[in-house]
Amino acid sequence: MASESKSSKNFVTRRSNGGGAAPDAIRERISIPNLRAAFKGQVIAPGDVDYDAARTVFPGGIDRRPGVIIRVADANEVTQVIALARESEMELAVRSGGHSAVGHGLSEGGIVLDLSRMKGLQIDPEQRTAWAETGLTAGEYTNAAGAYGLATGFGDTASVGIGGITLGGGVGYLVRKYGLTIDDLLAAEVVTADGQILRADPETNPDLFWALRGGGGNFGVATRFKFRLHDISQFMGGILILPATPDVIAGFIAEAEAAPDELSAIANVMPAPPMPFLPAELHGKMIVLALMAYTGDVGTGERVFAPFRALATPLADMVRPITYPQMYQPEDESYHPTAAAHNMFIEKVDRSVAETVIAHLQASDAVMRVAQLRVLGGTMERVPVDATAFAHRQARIMVNLAAFYNGPEDQAVREAWVKDFAAALDQGNPGVYVNFLGDEGNKRVQAAYPGSTWARLAAIKARYDPANLFRLNQNIPPAEKES
Ligand SMILES: Cc1cc2nc3c(=O)[nH]c(=O)nc-3n(C[C@H](O)[C@H](O)[C@H](O)COP(=O)(O)OP(=O)(O)OC[C@H]3O[C@@H](n4cnc5c(N)ncnc54)[C@H](O)[C@@H]3O)c2cc1C
Repeated sequence: MASESKSSKNFVTRRSNGGGAAPDAIRERISIPNLRAAFKGQVIAPGDVDYDAARTVFPGGIDRRPGVIIRVADANEVTQVIALARESEMELAVRSGGHSAVGHGLSEGGIVLDLSRMKGLQIDPEQRTAWAETGLTAGEYTNAAGAYGLATGFGDTASVGIGGITLGGGVGYLVRKYGLTIDDLLAAEVVTADGQILRADPETNPDLFWALRGGGGNFGVATRFKFRLHDISQFMGGILILPATPDVIAGFIAEAEAAPDELSAIANVMPAPPMPFLPAELHGKMIVLALMAYTGDVGTGERVFAPFRALATPLADMVRPITYPQMYQPEDESYHPTAAAHNMFIEKVDRSVAETVIAHLQASDAVMRVAQLRVLGGTMERVPVDATAFAHRQARIMVNLAAFYNGPEDQAVREAWVKDFAAALDQGNPGVYVNFLGDEGNKRVQAAYPGSTWARLAAIKARYDPANLFRLNQNIPPAEKES
């Protein structure tokens, strides 16, 4: 437990939402010493030695100072924190892996419910299922399941929390073969705004289960997920780097679309970073840095990769038989970039679209800039659109545009570039994937939930969180009651 400090005696000094102090009785009860006595988990307050580390999230430039960070030990403690937030009316942030692009896992002045100590994982290799607590990262889960030759697909980065990625959908290296992360979600344990610990699965609270699969953190705090696991004992993958000409980019996307579902590819079109395995004369030249993932035997894998390798002489080819967890690249914990970014879906990348991509990347001088193209389809597409709250099942290609910036002036320049780039690529689909959404306003949150999805989510929100306690997120306000 962190040491107590003067400044942490009583954390209810300001409230982040609406003014006024919390009622005296509550204030007394929730002083830091009392909280420390009440929780088995860790209570971290301003002034504690580990406060700054505990309020650091993945994206840079987010400098919020929560009143208290509570690293809960179990679902009962989640209930306690929720009661505290409800009664004190302090803003509540819920944090799993801390990768929200806009720092939704951190509150200014409020309470952070930090799940990072809840890392229980029970793998049943016979049934090929796992119960996982939501403080686990994708990498921790993947390594543990990988020891059995099994996997559930998350995203492309090990340090992302399974809490956030699962609740938003989960698009990763197995998306075409096994669908989104939520397509392998069999059940969840959730603490709702009224403090109940509920199970959600196709039979129990099915409306909640539907909403959790794409609707983000709007409906409660997920404490455990039950996932399906797949045999991943035969696997090939790694980085393939090709020169980024219009023909190579368009050809790459065509091959990824034609490939069997066993192949999922993420193509990053960008100026070559100074990677040690690339000759110095290539640094800064336009490349396609592709992350290739093939689930199957090596002989067939080689045949599937051949057309990609034939697009141009590879500048680097590290695609080989590996274990699935090896897909996750090593990470630097001190890496906290500030980036302007935009997520969108498009239908096609032909030669003309590829030329647009290259032209925009060449027109910027951001130290790091990228157009990331992910070919979707496969199993993800075969799940009915209304089966879950993630409704972009028919989208062909997901695009992430990003440029790093340094300081507010640079930020404005990079944001304008990203906006312009997105407009040039727009093919008429206004949708966005909620997990890559920034602080972009209510209209864009609605765009994450097309058709009837938004209204259905708002109705479920009204049932499970009528007072919008869980609002520090890509928020779906509760539907108004019909009079
Ligand atoms: C470097 C990087 C790579 C990424 N790659 C991918 C990718 O390949 N595929 C993909 O699909 N996404 C990807 N993402 C996006 C990622 O899925 C989202 O940012 C996700 O929200 C992060 O989850 P987290 O738990 O780490 O974040 P947090 O900041 O901890 O949580 C984000 C929000 O999710 C909600 N939340 C989290 N856990 C819970 C819980 N247990 N119960 C209730 N609500 C909860 C809360 O509202 C919280 O504010 C990436 C993000 C980054 C930064």
